[in-house]
Amino acid sequence: MLDELAATCEQKGCDRPLREDNCILVYRTDHGERRAYECDCGAVIVTVHR
Ligand SMILES: [Zn+2]
Repeated sequence: MLDELAATCEQKGCDRPLREDNCILVYRTDHGERRAYECDCGAVIVTVHR
């Protein structure tokens, strides 16, 4: 499981930590809570929380 606090940008060569400030979307599915983050570099990363 991906820890929210340990989430980092997956963009090659970026590796910035993703913070609450970067969170642009939160939604729930049957599989858990998903959060979309937009990094300062422009990449969007989706994490899953259960
Ligand atoms: Zn990035």
